[in-house]
Amino acid sequence: LKYIEVKLENRVPKNYPLVTFLNYKNRKRVLVTGGAGFVGSHLVDRLMLAGHEVIVVDNFFTGRKRNIDHWIGHENFELVHHDVVRPLYIEVDEIYHLASPASPPHYMLNPVKTIKTNTLGTINMLGLAKRVGAKVLIASTSEVYGDPDEHPQSETYWGHVNPIGPRACYDEGKRVAETLSYAYEHQENIAVRVARIFNTYGPRMHMNDGRVVSNFILQALQNNSITIYGDGKQTRSFQYVSDLVDGLVALMASNYSQPINIGNPVEHTIEEFALLIKNLVGGTSKIVALAAVEDDPQRRKPDISRAKKYLNWEAKVSLVEGLKKTITYFTKELQRSKYSFTD
Ligand code: NAD
Ligand code: UDP
Ligand code: UDP
Repeated sequence: LKYIEVKLENRVPKNYPLVTFLNYKNRKRVLVTGGAGFVGSHLVDRLMLAGHEVIVVDNFFTGRKRNIDHWIGHENFELVHHDVVRPLYIEVDEIYHLASPASPPHYMLNPVKTIKTNTLGTINMLGLAKRVGAKVLIASTSEVYGDPDEHPQSETYWGHVNPIGPRACYDEGKRVAETLSYAYEHQENIAVRVARIFNTYGPRMHMNDGRVVSNFILQALQNNSITIYGDGKQTRSFQYVSDLVDGLVALMASNYSQPINIGNPVEHTIEEFALLIKNLVGGTSKIVALAAVEDDPQRRKPDISRAKKYLNWEAKVSLVEGLKKTITYFTKELQRSKYSFTD
């Protein structure tokens, strides 16, 4: 509070309207690592619209300035080009730590960097939280459950992860990030929040993201073959990005510090998903089966009882509604890419 009062003295003009003044007192300085990425940029929009000061830290590995350029120049917004593997000294009240590649082709491109980002990067953010007394939310993942032998997955399940497989850099990196969070909580009294995020999709996914939603939509829009890896019987449960942002903000505001699944429990096989997208887009794409990928989790569906109980949260956007918005986005992206040499 002292910190906010000092800032108020320095920055609020004498004739500031009272209502804005009250809002100003509630305003937080929020760091979003990975804020130029797909999820991070939607979270930034939400925080900016709520009137907070937002600092985005990103190394632009998979993120893009264009995801947040509508905020550049706004007095509450700051963009820092920085790699979280290196220490960061700033003053903030809350940290949403999202920096990490998220799509399998991206995180497998440089596995060592993926591990460094999730371990050293997370240590730096927890060290920062410790020094400034900030609350920190870690973006963990359903991948901590690996190829699960419990279904649906609840937070009490310890997982089934191959520690030396191609996905290990990400899965084990996120598992260590969780371990670090609770070590800092117990040892240093840091307030941590751990979101286990399930497959999320929506506008601002990268065209070359390589995840199933962007692949299938782009293939269908261009009348290319829709590529199913394996027999298509593997399942996923897809969540629209605005639901995830609701969940992240609710988790940060809550007093709940154990891991919490944030996902939409409506489960589909990848084959059903390919057909749904083909029907929504129209066009002449064929659906083809390619070789299965190594260590691909066969079933995934969140048990969201905890989120319902402790955050009063559940996903609201239906798959068809969310996919329609995402298809509109990718249609525009394709038109844009015809006239542009950059991403
Ligand atoms: P994304 O690739 O679009 O965004 C990640 C952002 O982090 C990018 O802007 C990237 O440039 C940045 N980044 C990567 N390494 C960095 C580093 N060392 N220093 C600074 N910035 C760095 O991915 P996303 O889908 O927005 O995912 C965001 C977070 O949510 C990730 O931590 C991811 O693991 C987690 N998550 C996402 C999903 C999903 O389905 N989207 C599912 C589970 C977990
Ligand atoms: N750190 C940071 N910003 C800060 C404080 C710490 O990036 O404001 C980093 C720093 O690199 C440090 C790490 O966080 O090594 C862990 O901090 P901690 O205080 O736990 O450990 P130590 O400083 O003893 O290494
Ligand atoms: N997948 C697919 N075709 C693609 C991309 C992905 O069949 O073009 C499958 C993939 O093998 C996995 C599922 O879709 O079973 C989800 O993959 P994604 O990379 O989106 O995310 P994951 O949940 O595996 O991290």
